[in-house]
Amino acid sequence: MSSSSSQRSASRPHPLAPYGWDADWEAEFAPYAAQGLLPGRVVRVDRGQCDVVTAEGTVRADTEFVTPHDPSPSSRLRSSRGGPIRVVCTGDWAAVDPEGGDPRYVRAYLPRRSSFVRSTSSKRSEGQILAANVDHTIIAVPLTGDLDLGRIERFLALGWESGAQPVVVLTKADLVPDAVTLAHLVQDVETSAPGVPVLPVSATSGDGVDVLAAVVSGGTSVLLGQSGAGKSTLANALAGADVMAVQAIRDVDGKGRHTTTTRNLLVLPGGGVLIDTPGLRGVGLWDAGNGVGQVFSEIEELAERCRFHDCAHGAEPGCAVLAAVDDGTLPERRLDSYRKLMRENQRIVAKTDARVRAELRREWRLRGAEGKAAMEAKRGRVR
Ligand code: GDP
Ligand code: ZN
Repeated sequence: MSSSSSQRSASRPHPLAPYGWDADWEAEFAPYAAQGLLPGRVVRVDRGQCDVVTAEGTVRADTEFVTPHDPSPSSRLRSSRGGPIRVVCTGDWAAVDPEGGDPRYVRAYLPRRSSFVRSTSSKRSEGQILAANVDHTIIAVPLTGDLDLGRIERFLALGWESGAQPVVVLTKADLVPDAVTLAHLVQDVETSAPGVPVLPVSATSGDGVDVLAAVVSGGTSVLLGQSGAGKSTLANALAGADVMAVQAIRDVDGKGRHTTTTRNLLVLPGGGVLIDTPGLRGVGLWDAGNGVGQVFSEIEELAERCRFHDCAHGAEPGCAVLAAVDDGTLPERRLDSYRKLMRENQRIVAKTDARVRAELRREWRLRGAEGKAAMEAKRGRVR
């Protein structure tokens, strides 16, 4: 196998190219290649083990590994006194020890370009990374019923926080009665999603699927969205087969595990890679502080013009945010949504961080006093 790979002509694509392997990854992997390790992408994780696709086929490996104390080549592999424990997740580029039986050992993973982290009270936070090296966060939003802009903003925050570029896909566009209504809906979402492409798509009619396929062909994507948003249908449309249904059937009979049909990472026929893990579907529990700021970038920009640099945009004099609400340039709904997500995010962070908790307590005490003062002022105005 190794002789055939060394004979591979330079013009032929690398066997891992469909999985997203590129010149940058190759350069980062060079020190590990020098140690005789094999690059591979983690395509499935379950019960402490993972499937890693390498140029020499799919290998089974342990997800946990101990980083060696001494990174010098002579001591690297069989160091018994190791450094901290690391855990690979779906999407990681791993350095696998080609020797050894089944499962093999992961020795390292390349620095993650992006990661989806589940916020948790567990100390072993590394085990809570749901997906790594994602380029696009595809947020599926159904065009049925009322558009829940607040929910879209929440998913956007998670997307930005991960480091992957969000894209909003408005699904079931065939259910919108006419083109004018559709254009309005797209515009509403665009207003809530600065810097984010918004694509209407119908899996039923096929409209827009080619545009989405082109977007995802340039890297690794994940699909986020509430249950029933049409994620499985989109995944099947992109994969050109009933991959999701096939997975379910194979899982039920308990056979066919470790086969390609149960992967969480799929290579798409039109190019690109789609990651779909059960954990990613239950979103809403991540620390997305920076992401929230990016979703509401216009509010953060306005806030820079508030008189007080720590303005809470409540009742402070000289508040540029409230002024924008008053003159109609900033919809009040946006500000409410921003506040709600900020509060929610602080609650999540507080679960894991005692220092933030102490800070919040202090802030609540201040807010309590401020709130009372504001209420009294209001009452005074009414009177
Ligand atoms: P998921 O829970 O996000 O994976 O959603 P599904 O893909 O299972 O879709 C939920 C429901 O919406 C199913 O009944 C689909 O048939 C339906 N659906 C999905 N995409 C479309 C579409 O483009 N048009 C219409 N009319 N229905 C769709
Ligand atoms: Zn303000």
